[in-house]
Amino acid sequence: MQNVSALLTERRGEYLEQLFTLLRQPSISTQNVGMEACAEWIVRFMQSCGLDARLMPSDGYPMIYGERIRDPDAFTVLIYGHYDVQPPDPLDAWVSPPFEPTVRDGRIYARGAGDNKGQLMAQLLAIKTYLDAFGELPVNVKVLLEGEEETGSPHLDGFVSRHRDLLRTDLVYTSDGPMHDSGAPIVLLGVRGMLYVELTARGAAWDNHSGNKGNIVPNPAWTLVHLLGTMKGADGHILIEGFYDDVRRPTEAEVELLKALPYDRDRVARQIGYPTLDLDGPTYYRKLSLEPTLNICGFHSGYGGEGSKTIIPATATVKMDMRLVADQDPDDIYRKFCDHVRRHAPDVEVRHLGAMRPSRTPADLDVVRVVTEAVRTAYGMEPVLQPSLGGSLPDAVWTKTLGVPSIIVPYANFDEANHSPNENIGIDNFLGGIRCTCHVLHALGRFAGTVG
Ligand SMILES: [Zn+2]
Repeated sequence: MQNVSALLTERRGEYLEQLFTLLRQPSISTQNVGMEACAEWIVRFMQSCGLDARLMPSDGYPMIYGERIRDPDAFTVLIYGHYDVQPPDPLDAWVSPPFEPTVRDGRIYARGAGDNKGQLMAQLLAIKTYLDAFGELPVNVKVLLEGEEETGSPHLDGFVSRHRDLLRTDLVYTSDGPMHDSGAPIVLLGVRGMLYVELTARGAAWDNHSGNKGNIVPNPAWTLVHLLGTMKGADGHILIEGFYDDVRRPTEAEVELLKALPYDRDRVARQIGYPTLDLDGPTYYRKLSLEPTLNICGFHSGYGGEGSKTIIPATATVKMDMRLVADQDPDDIYRKFCDHVRRHAPDVEVRHLGAMRPSRTPADLDVVRVVTEAVRTAYGMEPVLQPSLGGSLPDAVWTKTLGVPSIIVPYANFDEANHSPNENIGIDNFLGGIRCTCHVLHALGRFAGTVG
């Protein structure tokens, strides 16, 4: 790996210039700005890195696919990333123009610097660096870059389902998002899924006088209050029949991981504006990542303005999200939710507003240990190994649709300001990302027996 370090020092300027070229090319998916030109540039760049690369049509913006196969039977890693970026607005909040990469205090400022161009370039440049240092890659490498991550990856799952053979792999490796705020690397093994629903209850055809019609017309706000009361006990337990049936029990390895995660109660309490937070670290992380939720996001009915208005509202609506954990299936949970509503308040309408599947790669897999050790070596620091994110990402595309382990290792600095003005990536984060990917490839080669 000394050759890798030497090449990285020698080529620092060249690699930065190549990243700048990509950052100068806008690729705003939600506004259809510069998408094709960006995708074409990346394909050519991937070819110059030693990958067999091409554009592949999807039902949305094209997918970029590249591969380098040393032996069809050898271990394969699929690297996933995205070439689209968020709109740069508000423009006048940028210190330097969003598509003119500018270096200040060791950071590169540009839209996409962290999310995800700096990180995908780190992956591609690692492939090039490794090839030049060793003459061949230690494992088969496939790369899939999509142009719709910032709009919710609507066509990724369909594309992956249609190209299962092409994308066949032993591991999916993603670098997106920020590192830990302590500067430590993160190895993330899963995400919670989500189901979003809206309930509507109706009473009379219009709002009525609460005295003149009181006790006569029904109040839909009470209908929803009673219904919601049947869904969750005061102890927090969710009472929808079968809700917990498919919740995967945490393994011993996962329970151990929770104990090792950094946690400072007072700091978390400050960060979330809830000073009376009273949980120890393992409980905090267990509730946040391995247990599902049933949450009321908003409840609207009747009069909410100043002073009083004496009415019986005609309608009431509530918006709810459920964060789901492995192996809950959003379609199955939606059926159970609808059954529950039908049983307790048959006239209440349910609308499905969105869903994402949960995903979790078991922490005790050998390949997880191999990648974690490689990350530790690359950064010379203990990685934060997280069994699951509290939030949701389309990671189940890999673990469910493709059926393989998926590991996310973010390369950007904690304060990368992705989606915000003055997005940036530390030059050291970018170079550290290249080094980390090289170490991961090398370690996977050792694991697969192709590297001594
Ligand atoms: Zn993003």
